[in-house]
Amino acid sequence: MPTEIVASAGLPDQDFGLWGATAEPVPLTAALPGDRHADVAIIGAGYTGLSTALHLAELGISGICIDSQGPGFGASGRNGGQVLPGFKLYPDQLVETYGEERGRAMAAFGAGIADMLFALVARHGIACDARQSGWVHAGHHVSKLAEQRWKHDQWASRGANVQWLDKAAITQQVGSELYEGGWLDRRAGTVQPLSFARGLARVAMAKGAAIHSATRANALQRDGDGWRISTSSGTIRAQHVVLATNGYTDRLLPRLAGTLVPVDSAQVATAPLHEAQRKRILPAIACVSDTRRSLLYFRTSSDGRLVMGGRGGILLPTDASHFARLERATQLTFPQLEGIPFTHRWAGTLAVTMDHMPHLHEPEPGLIASIGCNGRGVAYSTAMGEVIAQRIASGNWDRAPMPVTPITPMPFAPFRRIGAAVVAGWYGWRDRRQGHL
Ligand SMILES: Cc1cc2nc3c(=O)[nH]c(=O)nc-3n(C[C@H](O)[C@H](O)[C@H](O)COP(=O)(O)OP(=O)(O)OC[C@H]3O[C@@H](n4cnc5c(N)ncnc54)[C@H](O)[C@@H]3O)c2cc1C
Repeated sequence: MPTEIVASAGLPDQDFGLWGATAEPVPLTAALPGDRHADVAIIGAGYTGLSTALHLAELGISGICIDSQGPGFGASGRNGGQVLPGFKLYPDQLVETYGEERGRAMAAFGAGIADMLFALVARHGIACDARQSGWVHAGHHVSKLAEQRWKHDQWASRGANVQWLDKAAITQQVGSELYEGGWLDRRAGTVQPLSFARGLARVAMAKGAAIHSATRANALQRDGDGWRISTSSGTIRAQHVVLATNGYTDRLLPRLAGTLVPVDSAQVATAPLHEAQRKRILPAIACVSDTRRSLLYFRTSSDGRLVMGGRGGILLPTDASHFARLERATQLTFPQLEGIPFTHRWAGTLAVTMDHMPHLHEPEPGLIASIGCNGRGVAYSTAMGEVIAQRIASGNWDRAPMPVTPITPMPFAPFRRIGAAVVAGWYGWRDRRQGHL
């Protein structure tokens, strides 16, 4: 299937905050020009969809990837760019939850996903400021250190490149007095997330995948032994369909949306730090997330700004006041930045599941959904693109680390966003009550 280029998607850069202002140019993609056929139709052009398109193209399988907006429009163009190995559940918990064999396979897969992303970036020469220089999981209170030590020990006993940090070491690594201890995972790092998404799109197209922006999938129907997707600008007939819509999942497959809660997360970026500040704040490691119930995550950008993120509310923020908590958090974490201007504010939507794990479904033969990254999807979604492509090429899930599960909407699905907002508010209240912002 040749690449079809007609016009740029023309996405407004300001939607993506700092990443929009500093990203590699948007690859030229156009709306689907009428009716098309391919082996695989992919809905959603974030990391999941784009990596699937790329790996399919490398296997010589034709794919059409559509997005109602454009490549990287969703969480993939807006996230913190923290490339983290593993899952929200740690290796021992995976074995406990999924059994010895499956749990070990999932832990091994999770252990390798950050390396896989950095290797892919290097292999294809994707320009996205990739830095594999570590992530610190920082304990904001002494009561959190035992749990942090337990997480560290699980990876250490499996030979991962991790290191325990006491108060003095974490203070030096992070450049903040706020943390009591934690652990450093050297497998992790950062990318410029929007550049990475655009780079994936560019490479997938160069390998023969078709990527269409401004093309919303409106309906999905069985068509013989394949599928027919009606879109806003034509129809796609395909043997397989991959739903890669994560936090932006709509009613295309009605039960799917009920399996996850769309949760908003927001970020702010400061003006570039002075030389002396740069030497103190994250002098060597790439990024941090902490142990607050309402967690904070932060990093520096390649142009020397501090980028601070945290859970948002029930709705995407509409004005600057919604970002006040993050600006306050920046000042409290780094008092040396008192008075620094905040130049960018933005937000995006991720998908949270009841079991805090991503889900893989194939409710009917050839209809695949990979969703629910729980804020931990940069490396995972990219790695899953290869797993999905292998499934399509081989006709089986033998290489899938995840169980392929039925689609089971959560109880009270219509009220799930309200429930999530109540929980987020309660978490924030408990953090504040304990004096943690
Ligand atoms: C603010 C924020 C910070 C985050 N930080 C991190 C981090 O630092 N590290 C980490 O590992 N994870 C992080 N995450 C999570 C991570 O970004 C996501 O897990 C990952 O990007 C999901 O990729 P995806 O391709 O599955 O979905 P997305 O990138 O969300 O893409 C889904 C796409 O589907 C499209 N779509 C939906 N419905 C349709 C339809 N009917 N027709 C056509 N197109 C459709 C949307 O337009 C969208 O572009 C963060 C998320 C957010 C929001």
